[in-house]
Formats: sequence, structure tokens, C-alpha cells
Amino acid sequence: MAQQPAPSSLKYLAGHAPALLAQVQARIAEGSLGRLLLARYPAAHGVRTDGALYDYVHELKAQFMRRSEPLSKVAYDGKLHVVRNALGTHTAISRVQGGKLKAKREIRVASVMREVPAEWLRMIVVHELAHLRIREHDKAFYALCTHMEPAYHQHEFDLRLYLTHLHLGGQPLWEAAGTSLQPRA
Ligand SMILES: [Zn+2]
Repeated sequence: MAQQPAPSSLKYLAGHAPALLAQVQARIAEGSLGRLLLARYPAAHGVRTDGALYDYVHELKAQFMRRSEPLSKVAYDGKLHVVRNALGTHTAISRVQGGKLKAKREIRVASVMREVPAEWLRMIVVHELAHLRIREHDKAFYALCTHMEPAYHQHEFDLRLYLTHLHLGGQPLWEAAGTSLQPRA
């Protein structure tokens, strides 16, 4: 029997088991999805600028992908859609240059990832680094992701929960991270 499609309110969780979606829906109905995420991830990362992101990505690259080509650019990008571009359906940017197909070695991270827990930024960066070696979202690709970050799938799922929370009109949960050292007026 074909699986029921996820309701549009749960589009970021499409493909997950109906029983799991029902649990998430119950959380949403009682208004506790945000609290659940905050309890699991109390703080945001401190990688706030493109420069800090560049350093962060290069540290992980040096650890796991030393032999891959150098990156030409690393940046947060406000025009990127996080799910389309990093959680399943994006394609590598390629262009023909001098008759040769050349993939652009850039890592762009959706701006929403600036204000999320460290685990999720790491998951997204691991995903992009894995694409330096494997283009498709196949078994080998996800094996490489989980090699770099064993909790990759858990973090991806929790990010999808957060995107669902935002999609349903929930407030950003970590917005003031890194800037909250001054007392509020
Ligand atoms: Zn991808």
C-alpha cells in the first residue's frame, strides 16, 4: 500500500513513517516542539561571520578531506533554501570552462544556519564537504557523511523538526545567540 503523503504542514519531514509524523503533530498541537528542541540543544554555535565559517569549514576539511581540491569560496547565503540545497535535492553547480565541465568548489550555507545549534551547522558542512567527493545522494554519500559525523541522521532530523517549527510560524529559537551578553534594556 502506498504511504500517505505528509500533510503540507509537515513537508520538511516528508518520507518519514506515519507513526513518527503523528508524534510530531501531537507535539505541535500541544505547542511543545520548540521547547523540546531547546531542551535538546540549549545554545547556538558562535560561527557568525563568513570569515568564521571559512575557518570552520577548513578545519573540518583538513581533518577529513585534506586531499580534495581547495575551496574557492565559503559563505552564508541568504538566498539559499536550506532543504533544497543541503538536505536532499540540490545539485552541484557546474559550468563549462574551456570546453571542460568544471564543478565550482564553493560551499554556501543557508543563512538560517547562522542561528542554530553547533551540531546542525556541522551536519550541513559535513554534507557539503561530502559532495567534494561524491556528487549524488547515494549510499556511499551518506556513509561518508556518517563517517565524518556519526550522529548525522539524528541532527538532520532535528533540523527538519526546527524547520517545521519555523514553517508553522514558530519564533526562531536561538536568534540572540552570541549577541546576548549585554543585558536587555
Ligand atoms: Zn546534497
